[in-house]
Amino acid sequence: MSGTAQIGVTGLAVMGRNLARNFARNGFTVAVHNRTAAKTRALVEEFGSEGSFVAAESPEDFVAALERPRRLVIMVKAGEPTDAVIQEFAPLLEEGDVIIDGGNAHFEDTRRRERELRERGIHFVGVGISGGEEGALHGPSIMPGGSAESYESLGPLLERIAAKAPDGSPCVTHVGPDAAGHFVKMVHNGIEYADMQLIAEAYHLLRTVAGYSPAKIAETFRDWNTGRLDSYLIEITAEVLAHVDAATGKPFVDVVQDRAEQKGTGRWTVQIALDLGVPVSGIAEAVFARSLSGHAELREAARSLTGPAVSPLGEKEAEAFAAQVEQALYASKIVSYTQGFHQIQAGSETYDWNVDPGAVAAIWRAGCIIRAAFLDRIRGAYDAQPDLPSLLSDKRFGDEIGAAQDDWRAVIMEATRQGVPVPGFSAALAYYDALRAERLPAALTQGQRDFFGAHTYRRTDREGSFHTLWGGDR
Ligand code: NAP
Repeated sequence: MSGTAQIGVTGLAVMGRNLARNFARNGFTVAVHNRTAAKTRALVEEFGSEGSFVAAESPEDFVAALERPRRLVIMVKAGEPTDAVIQEFAPLLEEGDVIIDGGNAHFEDTRRRERELRERGIHFVGVGISGGEEGALHGPSIMPGGSAESYESLGPLLERIAAKAPDGSPCVTHVGPDAAGHFVKMVHNGIEYADMQLIAEAYHLLRTVAGYSPAKIAETFRDWNTGRLDSYLIEITAEVLAHVDAATGKPFVDVVQDRAEQKGTGRWTVQIALDLGVPVSGIAEAVFARSLSGHAELREAARSLTGPAVSPLGEKEAEAFAAQVEQALYASKIVSYTQGFHQIQAGSETYDWNVDPGAVAAIWRAGCIIRAAFLDRIRGAYDAQPDLPSLLSDKRFGDEIGAAQDDWRAVIMEATRQGVPVPGFSAALAYYDALRAERLPAALTQGQRDFFGAHTYRRTDREGSFHTLWGGDR
């Protein structure tokens, strides 16, 4: 039996509900279902007038409401609940139907699910969706993986509900086979962590070293947002900093506990980067910074340790310093994206996904948390040279970071002098300097490894591997 709904959404918490409404507002008939049926009824009662919904109380009714090939979006908690829902629905589906998982799945789970369902003739599409609940309703950035055939059936629907970039193009593309979409979404979140950490460091420096108030820093961020740092995260940072707590009249940032939480996608990015051997030091420092902030007892025990005397700069110097911080933030941001795109390229090669990095930059231009004017230029860099070894090899980015490097170093020196931690800025600069270096001390590391473990080394002047018979008793 075949129904009339072009798409179905099961899992009607905040994300699923808003995604279903987005489909309906764009003219599609949407079958809706939730384990707890009250949520399905509530959605139709509250938002039924926005478009055409078919409320289904049981999985059987839900599947029967969908036209063929069925397109069924799962928006439930990632992990076991997603497997449970797949197990429930797959036996009700037929060959050629498409299951879409819009949750934040680990890409290895997506690879497994895609393989298992492919054997049963069902397409499984892991879709990264970014933009939070507002994005889901008004237009997210959408990163679908899965077979090219499934994208033929699903793509036109996703293109309608996706965010639109400034040039009008929809922020969705077929990222690649099986888990390519969830992988790219994972790296997106890792870059988001790094972006947020760098912004936090800039704030910390402006507050402590420049002696600015949160309101003045909000003004500074607003100003930066009119330039090359123009982005959603800079924009909301200004709003958060300008916000005054109603209960106390104090700046909001001063009444919030300084312990950052995390849901885990940043950690996954770093874990996978370690497996792939990709140095994503900026993302790693961002994850560690959140983790360190949460160790209240460690921090309490270290409070009495000695540090340098902090002396905020005078007004004129502070202004000049703020301009240097903008340079450091921008340069570090270029490095974060360089590392993130390196990880995408490494994942693509390892799993044979053939991901187009320029297309990924293009679909991050709107709808998602890291949306930024800057992404248009990343797209341009990859369009001009699809096999670009690194974003830093793009002439424009290389020139910009070169022009920023003196200020970048000055900011890190001042931060170090005044005892302000800037792990993101410092890791980014270390990455830049390590890549630039003619010779790295890795040659010494190889010597040590050969000394204690006969691990061998390669020479600069001859082919082959070598081992030295080191002296002493060994
Ligand atoms: P959520 O809190 O992650 O999940 C709640 C939904 O999952 C409810 O509909 C719940 O049904 C259902 N559910 C849980 N266990 C189930 C099971 N064993 N069987 C069937 N249904 C089950 O909801 P969310 O915040 O809307 O997120 C949905 C997905 O989108 C998640 O994977 C999340 O990681 C991802 N995501 C979220 C955001 C965001 O900003 N929130 C952004 C991007 C992606 P009941 O009502 O019956 O409990």
